[in-house]
Amino acid sequence: MVRKMMIAGNWKMNGLSTDGVALAKEVAAAVKAKKRVCEFAVCPPFTILAAVKKALRGAKVALGAQDCHFDEKGAHTGDISPLMLADVGCAYVILGHSERRADHGESNELVCRKAEAAHKAGLKTIICIGETLAQRERGETIDVCSEQILGSVPATATAADTVIAYEPVWAIGTGKTPTAQDVEDVHAAVRKVLAKKIGKAQAGKMRILYGGSVKPANAKELLNLPDVDGALVGGASLKAADFMAIADNAGC
Ligand code: PEP
Repeated sequence: MVRKMMIAGNWKMNGLSTDGVALAKEVAAAVKAKKRVCEFAVCPPFTILAAVKKALRGAKVALGAQDCHFDEKGAHTGDISPLMLADVGCAYVILGHSERRADHGESNELVCRKAEAAHKAGLKTIICIGETLAQRERGETIDVCSEQILGSVPATATAADTVIAYEPVWAIGTGKTPTAQDVEDVHAAVRKVLAKKIGKAQAGKMRILYGGSVKPANAKELLNLPDVDGALVGGASLKAADFMAIADNAGC
């Protein structure tokens, strides 16, 4: 099964117009500089999506957002709709990141509703799952990830409109990572659960990214596993040199 590797940067709440645009330009130039076999995306904060879109012009780097509402428009002060993201030029939206699940109490049901709305607006989703340290220590990793997949991924999701990101919560921003074997085991288990939800054919084609302290030094080991189809990169995506070194080391 051929799945195109993807390297996506989650800038989180980082980036003002000057440094965000400069970062986007550096990534765009580096992606253009040689023939690339992977798909690239950057997901800046809402406020600089338009400016980053402009900075990426001519480079094969998709624009993504970090969240959206499930409604197309209306009385939701402070929220952004999927249609607005499509309108500004986004191809992707990250949904169900653990920071949103923790900071904003987002449930699997809500993530699923957002994903359905995003797909309806023509966006592709990067749906995040992952266990906490306590859950891992209790041996619940596969159960937690399975429940998140079954609850957060729409039954209508396809490999063309959905990417999964497995991000152990305890690995995000900590410098800690699971072993390569652990990552492969979880990804393989996630693909099996996906098959139950959306069918074997789509599950086989759907990309499952790893996220959580991916760095240039561990990219080769963590991203060249049979069921790992790239990375969602947080901290290291804020430096173009690190982001691109991750891509290079992953064979992108
Ligand atoms: C993330 O939050 O999506 C992430 C992967 O963060 P980091 O790479 O900084 O661990």
